[in-house]
Amino acid sequence: MSVGKGKSKGKGVAKGHVLVIGQTIWRFTPNRRVYASRDISNAPIWREHFEKWYVIGENRTSYIVAYSKKIDPLERKLPRIEKKSFAETGKAEGYVFSQLELERAAWAEENGTHIMDRIRYTRDPDLLATIAAASGYKGPPVPTACSHGELHTECDACEDEDRTTADAQEAVRAEEEEERARGVYEDGELP
Ligand SMILES: [Zn+2]
Repeated sequence: MSVGKGKSKGKGVAKGHVLVIGQTIWRFTPNRRVYASRDISNAPIWREHFEKWYVIGENRTSYIVAYSKKIDPLERKLPRIEKKSFAETGKAEGYVFSQLELERAAWAEENGTHIMDRIRYTRDPDLLATIAAASGYKGPPVPTACSHGELHTECDACEDEDRTTADAQEAVRAEEEEERARGVYEDGELP
């Protein structure tokens, strides 16, 4: 079941993400360790730390969660997920709320370091430019080829074009000044 958006029943609780009673969630449980092989010297499978839990009840401020739907939500000391912050963020520390979210988090956990290793020492300017753009890096941009396949500042063709453009702009400026001198004004322009 996915997390919906809508009105929460709780009084004074902001609209936003809501959990539904009976919904499956996954709780991060560090002690739950599953290994890929019998060799436990390897790290446990990260995704397997997550245990299936359920939303079994709610009160004004919190959802009450447990590892079994059969548990009485009125039992004391059951873990809770605070409604207000969940409504705002759709997240709660130590939980994921859909299979998609779990798989995405597991992918990031299992591949993040390997990806970082690939990019850490790269000096490939295009790869670095992609990462710079994706990460909001504010440094200078990677130099790119002009339309002639050269570095703009070193390109004769660009230089010619720039000169032509500058000449054309100069011609327009000169013409405007001449019109001004002759007393030709645009509508609303002051003499
Ligand atoms: Zn050029």
